[in-house]
Amino acid sequence: MQNEKENKTDCSPEQCETCGDTSCASRQGGRPHSAPVQDDARLKARLNRIRRKIIVMSGKGGVGKSTVAVNLAMSAMLAGQRVGLLDVDLHGPSVPTMLGLVGCRMEGGVDGMLPVEVGGLKVLSTGFLLQNNDDPVIWRGPMKMGVIRQFIEDVAWGDLDLLVIDVPPGTGDEPLSICQLISDLEGAVIVTTPQKVAAADVRKSINFCNEVGVKVLGVIENMSGFACPKCGEVTPILRANGGRPMAEEMGVPFLGSIPIDPLVAESGDDGKAFVESAASSPAAGAFREIVRELALGEKNA
Ligand code: ADP
Repeated sequence: MQNEKENKTDCSPEQCETCGDTSCASRQGGRPHSAPVQDDARLKARLNRIRRKIIVMSGKGGVGKSTVAVNLAMSAMLAGQRVGLLDVDLHGPSVPTMLGLVGCRMEGGVDGMLPVEVGGLKVLSTGFLLQNNDDPVIWRGPMKMGVIRQFIEDVAWGDLDLLVIDVPPGTGDEPLSICQLISDLEGAVIVTTPQKVAAADVRKSINFCNEVGVKVLGVIENMSGFACPKCGEVTPILRANGGRPMAEEMGVPFLGSIPIDPLVAESGDDGKAFVESAASSPAAGAFREIVRELALGEKNA
C-alpha cells in the first residue's frame, strides 16, 4: 500500500491542489508539480554535462560505503577522468574528514555554488554547509529532497566524466531522491561486509534498486579478511562468504572483496584516499580490480 503511494507520480497538478495526501511522491519527490518548469530544465542542463552517475549504497552503516565512494572517485580521477563526489549522507557526512576538507566552505560563482576542489576532484558535502562540524542536521523528508535537488541544480559542477554519489545506509529519503532526480543514473554499487547478517540488509538495497528501476552494477564485500601490515597475507577473521553467494543468488554482479587493512582506516582518518596514499597495500590492489570491473578509468565507458 505504501509503495503504491510512493510511486504515485502521474496525477495531474489540479489533483495535487485538492488532494490531502501529504505522503504522495508527487508532493514529496524530486519532481513536485509545483516546481517551475524552468527548474526541471535547469536540473537537466546540469545533469546533461555529467556523463556517468553512480550511487554508492549499503544496507548498514559502518561497512565502508563512504570509504568506497571516496576511493572510487579518486581512482577515476587518478586515471585522468573529470570527477565529482556528491556526499548526500546528510546526517553523518564523513567525506570531508576522509578527504582532509573539514572546515571547508562552498563559495558562490557566476554559474552557481562552487564545489570544493581537492587535487582536481570536485566535492560537495552537507559538511561544507554547517556552521560548526558538530552541529546536527535536523531535516524532514521533503526538506531533504529539496536540498538534494539544489545540490545538483544550483551547483556549478561543469563538465564531468563521472559523478559518484554517497548516500546514507538504508533505503530512505536520500537514495530515493537521487533515484528520482537523476533519470539517467547508470546504477548502484552496493557495499557490504562478509557476515550473513550484513548480506541480509543488502538484499533490501537490491530490492530497492529493482523497485525504483536502478541497475545494480554490483556488490563489493569490504572488510573481507585481515591484511597483515607486515607480510600482506590476508586472514579471514569475520565468517566469510556472505557477499558473493548473496550476489549470485540475487542475480547481480559480485565486484570483489577488500580486506581489513589498517592503512585504509589510517588514510581515512588522515584525510587521504588509500588508493593513492597506500597504493601498494593489498586493499588498494583489490580496489584497483573493482575499478577495472566498473571501467571507471575508461574515457568511453
Ligand atoms: P560507512 O560509510 O559504511 O558508514 P565508512 O566508510 O565511514 O563506513 O567506514 C567506517 C570506518 O571503517 C572508517 O573509519 C573507515 O576508515 C574504516 N574502514 C572502511 N573500510 C576499511 C577496511 N577495508 N579496512 C580498515 N578500515 C576500514
